[in-house]
Amino acid sequence: MSRMTQPLSILHSVFGYPAFRPPQDQVIDTLMAGGDALVLMPTGGGKSLCYQVPAIALPGTGIVVSPLIALMQDQVAALRQAGVAAAFLNSSLSAEEAREVIRRLLAGELDLLYVAPERLVQESMLDLLERVQINLFAIDEAHCVSQWGHDFRPEYIRLEVLHQRFPAVPRIALTATADEATRREIRRRLDLDQARAFISGFDRPNIRYRIAEGSGGSRERLLRFIRDEHPGEAGIVYCLSRKRVDEIAAWLAAQGLDALPYHAGLSQEQRETNQRRFLNEEGVIVVATIAFGMGIDKPNVRFVAHLNLPKSIEAYYQETGRAGRDGLPADAWMLYGLQDVITLRQMMEGSEADEQFKRIERHKLDAMLGLCEMTGCRRQALLTYFGDPEPEPCGNCDNCLTPPETWDATVAAQKALSCVHRTGQRFGVNYLVDVLLGKDDERIRRFGHDRISTFGIGTELSVAAWRGLFRQLIARGLLAVDAEGHGGLRLAERARPVLQGKEQLWLRKELPAAKRSTRGRQAAAMAGVDAELWEALRRKRRELAEEQGVPPYAVFHDATLMELVARRPASLWEMATISGIGSHKLETYGETFLDLLADYPRDGAARPDASETQQETLTLFKAGMTVAQIAAHRSLRESTVYGHLAEAVARGEVPLAEVVELDEAEIERIGAMIELQEGGRLKAVFDALEGRYDYGVLRCIRAARLPANSS
Ligand code: ADP
Ligand code: ZN
Repeated sequence: MSRMTQPLSILHSVFGYPAFRPPQDQVIDTLMAGGDALVLMPTGGGKSLCYQVPAIALPGTGIVVSPLIALMQDQVAALRQAGVAAAFLNSSLSAEEAREVIRRLLAGELDLLYVAPERLVQESMLDLLERVQINLFAIDEAHCVSQWGHDFRPEYIRLEVLHQRFPAVPRIALTATADEATRREIRRRLDLDQARAFISGFDRPNIRYRIAEGSGGSRERLLRFIRDEHPGEAGIVYCLSRKRVDEIAAWLAAQGLDALPYHAGLSQEQRETNQRRFLNEEGVIVVATIAFGMGIDKPNVRFVAHLNLPKSIEAYYQETGRAGRDGLPADAWMLYGLQDVITLRQMMEGSEADEQFKRIERHKLDAMLGLCEMTGCRRQALLTYFGDPEPEPCGNCDNCLTPPETWDATVAAQKALSCVHRTGQRFGVNYLVDVLLGKDDERIRRFGHDRISTFGIGTELSVAAWRGLFRQLIARGLLAVDAEGHGGLRLAERARPVLQGKEQLWLRKELPAAKRSTRGRQAAAMAGVDAELWEALRRKRRELAEEQGVPPYAVFHDATLMELVARRPASLWEMATISGIGSHKLETYGETFLDLLADYPRDGAARPDASETQQETLTLFKAGMTVAQIAAHRSLRESTVYGHLAEAVARGEVPLAEVVELDEAEIERIGAMIELQEGGRLKAVFDALEGRYDYGVLRCIRAARLPANSS
């Protein structure tokens, strides 16, 4: 195929998207000009388009190296839906199917060919590629080249041969997880010294981070979380052991949820079936060890739950990053407890690795524990950890939404630490708590610990409170766990200043489980005809996907369906302007969906005053998008979106608390200030608050108090 089309027109006509997200356009320009690129973008950032668009635009075929079969199949299915000539070569093909792909490659019929790394570096494959026109090499998941990372793949190192054999072909390496050192390694090993780097921030603003301490009742809390916040939605639950995975999956299934296990102990066949169901159906929950996830490209995973503590922030971020690739609101929810902390500390101490390696691991675990115990913004901590400069508190994590209280735990900590000291630095938490509470116990008497000074000096706290305190002392490294695995605790160097009274210790206050709910914005479920239409669209999508054996999101993403509900296009022409509908999809599905839309005319009577544009904002908002997302999605300013919502607030259609995420006292304070102004004028209030709140937010607050003034 020899043609040369502009990237932007490909974005419009093939993918149906209105604009590139920076830096996609710059990456594409670099490749089209023959240069190499190193792209670091968060999951869901839009890495694929960076090589798909130029591969389509330039004459010849783009070769994509991808480590996972499932990922290749997914991408190829999605490309074909968009009308792109794409194929893959990997071990899942029969000899005959592979021959057909090669025939198409040689005939110049393919825009994109996905190849497994071990196949790409075979001599026969390289010879084959020399006979065709290659327009670029894309190396996906490029961090797999790093020996230090957890995804190391030896075949990746051999990819340097690409540059030797095809020096003139531009190459692009892409990854979502690479610290400074890994980036250097990618450059060195893949011969990418000259590559232009595109490093985007790591932020995933649509993911809400929540970490709660949980001892006991964790599966009930998990169930409540799923039922209350994600009924019928897809999610992943991570557990540490296979046994626990089986247990939790079976239990959730017994509660009526569509939950499936996934771990290395299952047969290959069982794993594939479960993974396929997760990808191809809606609302499946996979309970898994970390073996599940890499290469899971499903865009509408609405939550990732951890019932155990990951070993490092890198692992946590990668695992939680599988939620919300489509940019719509998603939850990263974790429960962790005393036993997690002890187990991980023990694993580390008992490991046979050399001292330097252990030091790094210990440091990583410290950072992870620090994230759990902190009282400030979690996202800020995550982004700082990954080197993003000066992030602001996010307003979308548990600590921002419900700031935790702290208490002066200095005296309690001194009691706990001296109890460890006086009992000889070899007992575990349960025993120590019994001593502190002065329990009548045969073992305590046998050791003579009923006669030491710390016996019974801790009756002011409950068992749970002491366990929580010990957890935090271990997490903060004031207490060390023995290497033998009995859970015995000893004092660490860091305990000294606290014991000597030179340092105070302020800790998170533990709230009873029920209280630690995160009040925040939930999708306020669409109602009436909108809800019926939404369900009908999803049914139709599923039907079409099943017919073709592709996942539903390959047909249309959720965001595209939401926009169909919001805009109710009445012609193909209007439909073409919806994000995610390119010309091929319009041709394939347009009529079908138009027919369906015609059966669900908008319930006009319900909201006589709402203009169409307000209506659209409102529908997207009710479907769960945040103000920022609606603004980005519709290319409007946030204040405009707030303006639309203010009208809905004034009409009483949307509760104010859902629109502005401020606590009640703050809303009350601002509201009172507004009422004091003549005619509710906002300028003076805006200034008095030093511009901290958008005019749009003020307008919404005014709308709730002085409805008449809102328009
Ligand atoms: P990554 O590989 O970086 O995790 P993807 O390439 O899978 O991300 O893209 C994430 C999602 O964003 C996909 O659904 C993709 O279609 C969408 N997307 C990418 N670029 C754009 C764009 N310019 N406009 C709208 N949507 C986009
Ligand atoms: Zn935050």
